[in-house]
Amino acid sequence: MSSAISKRCLEAFQTDDLYTIIGITAEEKDDLTDAKLKKAYHKKSKEWHPDRHADKHPEERVVATGKFQVIADAYRILGNPRMKAIYDTEGLLDDDNFVDTNDEVNNDQKETPEEDNSGDEAANEMAPMGSYQSEEENDEGIEYSTYEDSIDGYDSDVILPENEEFISDEEMDYSSNESDVDSPDYEIRPLLNGKTKLITFYFNDRSKCYHYYLNGDNRYYCSKCHSEKHTCCAVLLKNANGEQYIQMKNDHVCEPIDYYDDEIVTTTNFEIYQKQTGKELFIFADDDRSHFYQYYHVKQKKCYVCDQCTKNGKNTQAILNPKTGELEAEAFHQCEPQSYIPKIDASQYLIDKSNRGKPQLVVFADRFKKNCFKFHWHKKYGYYICNKKPCSIIAKLLKSSNGEKFVQMYKEHKCHPVPYE
Ligand SMILES: [Zn+2]
Ligand SMILES: [Zn+2]
Ligand SMILES: [Zn+2]
Repeated sequence: MSSAISKRCLEAFQTDDLYTIIGITAEEKDDLTDAKLKKAYHKKSKEWHPDRHADKHPEERVVATGKFQVIADAYRILGNPRMKAIYDTEGLLDDDNFVDTNDEVNNDQKETPEEDNSGDEAANEMAPMGSYQSEEENDEGIEYSTYEDSIDGYDSDVILPENEEFISDEEMDYSSNESDVDSPDYEIRPLLNGKTKLITFYFNDRSKCYHYYLNGDNRYYCSKCHSEKHTCCAVLLKNANGEQYIQMKNDHVCEPIDYYDDEIVTTTNFEIYQKQTGKELFIFADDDRSHFYQYYHVKQKKCYVCDQCTKNGKNTQAILNPKTGELEAEAFHQCEPQSYIPKIDASQYLIDKSNRGKPQLVVFADRFKKNCFKFHWHKKYGYYICNKKPCSIIAKLLKSSNGEKFVQMYKEHKCHPVPYE
C-alpha cells in the first residue's frame, strides 16, 4: 500500500491524491485538459520552487524542495496518458507503473521532439528541471535551469532521471560567454552516492578549484555561483575525435575553494536521529563530542549531506554502510564543525499550549524549573522557534535510535529566560 511515490506524497502533503497535490479540484478533474493541468502545475511549483525559498533556513528549504519535487512527480504522472490511466484506476500502488519509459529526456527523444507522444509533450515541456524562471529573468531567451541541486542538498532525478550521456553541440544554445576546457583541466569525480561532480581549476593554480553538481538537464552547475544567484555551468561534450571536453557557460562570480583529494573515512562516532521531516545525522569531529557536523538525509540522493558545506558550495556526503553499521564520509569539509549543544532530555522540557492555544515547547533553564525558554511551533517546517525575537533559534524534537525523545538546539540563546508560571 505504500509505494515510494505515495510515501513521498504523504510526507510532503499528508495526502497521496495527486490531483489535490497539484491543485485540481474534484470538479475540474473530469474534464481536465493539458492546459489546465499545466497551469495548475505552474502555479503550485512556483509556490514551492527552491529559488523562492533559497534564503530560508535549511530545514525550510528541504521541506519546500520536497514539496516541489512531489508536485513535479504529480505532473509527470498526470501529464502522461499512460500513467494517468493507471493512476486513475489503481492509484499509486506500484512504483513500476510510474517510471518514465519512452518519455525520458534522452538524446533520442531530443532528436525527435513532439512526435506521436502527445501526452508526453507536457512532461517534456517541464523537462529542464526546476527551470521555472520568473518572468523578469526571461528576457535573455536562454533556457537553463536556475536551480542547482547541491544548494538544497537535493537534486532532480525524481523529476528527470539522471543520465550522464553526452549531449550534442546543437543542443547548446549558448550564444555568448562560452569557453571550452580540455582534459586534464577538469576532473569528473564520483560521489559517494554513485553520481558525479565536476571540478575545474582556477586558471593555472591547481590548488584552487570550483565544484559543480549535475542537474537534471545534464549540465553541471557551480554551486557557489548559484548561491550568489549567478548561473555558471558546464556540459560534457565530445569532439569529432571522440575526445571529451567541457564547455563552460559564463564566468564565475564566486571564489574558488581549496582543491583536495577525495578521501573517505569510516567512522562510528556519529548519531542518526529521527525528526518530523526525515533524518538528521551528527558526525562528531572529536572524541569528546564537543563539535559536530550536521547532515540532512536527502532521499533523492540516497545519502546524507553536510548542511554547512552546501552553503559553502560543496556537497559533502556521507553514507551509512548497512552491512557494517559504519558511516562512510568524505573527509574534507568546506565548513568548520559547530559546537555541540547537549541534548535536553524529557525531564527538562515539556510541551504545552500557549495562552493562545498553540503548541508550545518549554525548555527549563534551571533544575528547579523556575525559569524557562519558550518556543512556538512552526507547523510548516516541523520545528520550534524561540519566542524572543531576534533570538529565534531553532529547537527540534528528535528521537534517537533507542526511541528516546529529546530536544536539540543548534545555537545558544541570545535571549534570557523568563519565569515559568
Ligand atoms: Zn562559481
Ligand atoms: Zn561540512
Ligand atoms: Zn532564545
